[in-house]
Amino acid sequence: MTPWRGLLHEYADWLDLRGVTDVVTLLEGNTPLIHAPRLSELVKADVWLKLEGLNPTGSFKDRGMTMAITKAKSAGATTVVCGSTGNTSAAAAAFAARAGMSCVVLVPQGKVALGKLAQAIVYGAEVIQIRGNFDRALTMARELTQHLPITIVNSINPDRIEGQKTGAFEVVDALGDAPDILSIPVGNAGNISAYWRGFTQYHFAGVSSILPKMWGFQAAGAAPIVLGHRVDEPETIATAIRIGNPASWVPALEAVDESHGAIRAVTDDELLAAYSFLARNESVFCEPASAASVAGLIKFGVPAGSRVVCVLTGNGLKDPDTAVSQSVTPVVIEATMDDLLRHLQ
Ligand SMILES: *Cc1c(COP(=O)(O)O)cnc(C)c1O
Repeated sequence: MTPWRGLLHEYADWLDLRGVTDVVTLLEGNTPLIHAPRLSELVKADVWLKLEGLNPTGSFKDRGMTMAITKAKSAGATTVVCGSTGNTSAAAAAFAARAGMSCVVLVPQGKVALGKLAQAIVYGAEVIQIRGNFDRALTMARELTQHLPITIVNSINPDRIEGQKTGAFEVVDALGDAPDILSIPVGNAGNISAYWRGFTQYHFAGVSSILPKMWGFQAAGAAPIVLGHRVDEPETIATAIRIGNPASWVPALEAVDESHGAIRAVTDDELLAAYSFLARNESVFCEPASAASVAGLIKFGVPAGSRVVCVLTGNGLKDPDTAVSQSVTPVVIEATMDDLLRHLQ
């Protein structure tokens, strides 16, 4: 068996690699697609989980970042910038370090999960917290490119979407065909657009016989696409999707329309219930935003017997604060067998 060589090598025939001279990879991709027996039983369908939290920096953002940093480096860039709810900055910082490039990240102060902030700092990025939300950070990152010779690696950079479509390829490669439904959290709406591009590309090439319905889920407090208008003060515990004005709004709607899918909202309580369910019943610890894909299935139901893939976009370890605050605090006892036995009775 040949070892996995990273997305740009493995899917070279399916990617736009024009201008690439120097591949920057951390051997991202090739994440597990695991069956979810208890969730399947609950929703009376055949549900699979795509564990994107097992990418090198712990989220699907690595798929887009190998492509974006590879292209930026090949074009001679020396510095990249992104606005981020956390995971984009972690991925950008890691791939920039690998490429020997500098990285500037703009994040909303106090609204980035601790693990993601730690990653960006430790990978050596210039981390700047702004007194504003993600949408403002993205606007500032865009504007910065007009003042300094710096490449933006947010998903408005088309190379990001191009790389992220490989998630769809892997799903089809693992299942032998596309699923009936692809369920996915929606924030800036780049990933749902990217998956649709991957599924359609494989389908028109005859690799898969069907196209999935695309089901996107936003957090109720940050659901601009569901509401049909921008949300100026988005709020949700799922910081990765705390976005009020998605950059890929139009392509996301196209994906939903063409696939006869839907974008709907789940509340923070529903999302946290799904988060706990996954950990306790499927032994999968994802981050809160990722659980939106499962919360949506539980809330709205699925046609009986359908084959469903939920994309679990990021690793639960990234957000220890939410994990701990959602659980009972472990008891403290004296270090004696008497106390231990008394406690367990
Ligand atoms: C970025 C991110 C999302 C949202 O993806 P979009 O492409 O912005 O819609 C969801 N979950 C996690 C963990 C993320 O990092």
